[in-house]
Amino acid sequence: MAINTFSPSPANASGKKVEPLPKGSKVVVIGAGAFGGWTSLFLLRQHYNVTLIDAWGPGNSRSSSGDETRVIRSTYGSNEFYFNLNVRALALWNEHEQRWNKRLFQNKGVLWLCYTEKTPLVDDSIPFAEKHSMAYEKLSIQELSKRYPILNTEDLHHAYFDPFGGCLRAREACQAVHKAFLEEGGDYIQAYATPGKIENNKLTSIKLSNGQTLKADLFIFACGSWLGTIFQEVLGNTISCTRQEVYYFGVPQDQAPAYEKFPVWVDVDGKDFYYGIPGNTYRGFKVGVDERGANFHPTTGERMADTQVLAKARKFIGHRFPGLSHAPLLENRVCPYENSPDGNFIFDHHPEADNLFFLGGGSGHGFKHGPALGELVSGIISGLYPIPEHFLTWQKTV
Ligand SMILES: Cc1cc2nc3c(=O)[nH]c(=O)nc-3n(C[C@H](O)[C@H](O)[C@H](O)COP(=O)(O)OP(=O)(O)OC[C@H]3O[C@@H](n4cnc5c(N)ncnc54)[C@H](O)[C@@H]3O)c2cc1C
Repeated sequence: MAINTFSPSPANASGKKVEPLPKGSKVVVIGAGAFGGWTSLFLLRQHYNVTLIDAWGPGNSRSSSGDETRVIRSTYGSNEFYFNLNVRALALWNEHEQRWNKRLFQNKGVLWLCYTEKTPLVDDSIPFAEKHSMAYEKLSIQELSKRYPILNTEDLHHAYFDPFGGCLRAREACQAVHKAFLEEGGDYIQAYATPGKIENNKLTSIKLSNGQTLKADLFIFACGSWLGTIFQEVLGNTISCTRQEVYYFGVPQDQAPAYEKFPVWVDVDGKDFYYGIPGNTYRGFKVGVDERGANFHPTTGERMADTQVLAKARKFIGHRFPGLSHAPLLENRVCPYENSPDGNFIFDHHPEADNLFFLGGGSGHGFKHGPALGELVSGIISGLYPIPEHFLTWQKTV
């Protein structure tokens, strides 16, 4: 697979310069999800002294990273920045699978189900795919029906198959990253962290729920959907947390292999954006609802399926995969989306403290980028790159 590296080199990248942090400095990262976990690992590799804190552990069930699987795809419409970031992420996922001898990435491809002749979300990425020698395959309705007889194609116009995408084992990956972090010399504390006082443009310390107080040269709060409540004054109106449902349906007993082998699929209907991840280490045919759900509190929110959202998803799934019309629900998960105002990730420092950084705003698409983002953030901290403009757009909404 021809994979180029993502290189926001100082020569050609615009953005915000950060004072380089001397090697050996103490960095505390709060949050061991996809963002904080990978960032901690890459900071260690940049020779920082890193302590990672998480209240409930890496890939825990309250976190956004804590589900079984996540989609990995480069397709981002006309947004070349995230396309390239994902190309780098793919290379790093592959590299770490080999390094750890652990299967985390299932390269089963991503099938984009298109309703009309023009589908900008997919079409506009085609030039980038070609640039990286990662071309998609266009499938007519006839080809689609022949290749995937379990799919109802009657309301579709065509499909694109991206053979480079697939899915990642999400919570398992968080734990693998965490294991590597410990093996490579990182310190980990399980505790809830609360920021201390800001004085002279610096965060002085954080307080932990175990009674400890920690000081550091730099703090990175990678707290997912908690960021908005921890920094209410700065991010309260910026990061919103919504409840998102995913369902694991049971497939017919005589057709399990056909469903298991089906690629990741995205139904590009322009509003609900149902998507699916078949084959989740045998946990069922997973269907996700991308339409934003109700506001949610990630600590106290209950995680039972909403009957109306489930009924609507069942109706859709019975239509798209008629063999699943009466499929039993085996499991469901409610995971929080940590939405930024425009879907861009956020990496920036607190307006009143230049040693306090926020890293978040994954907005329902962050998981796959974890390794590339961690590498990029550690490069920014050590002075290799400026902060890309994409991570700074949140300021315009404050
Ligand atoms: C239903 C759903 C489907 C998704 N689908 C995809 C997909 O297909 N592909 C994709 O790439 N992305 C997807 N995403 C998005 C992706 O999962 C997230 O963007 C990503 O996991 C965010 O990681 P994070 O590390 O920022 O946050 P989290 O994973 O939430 O991690 C934050 C961590 O911080 C800890 N924490 C919070 N506050 C504190 C505190 N004060 N003290 C100590 N610890 C604290 C929490 O315990 C948690 O472990 C999806 C998200 C959801 C919810």
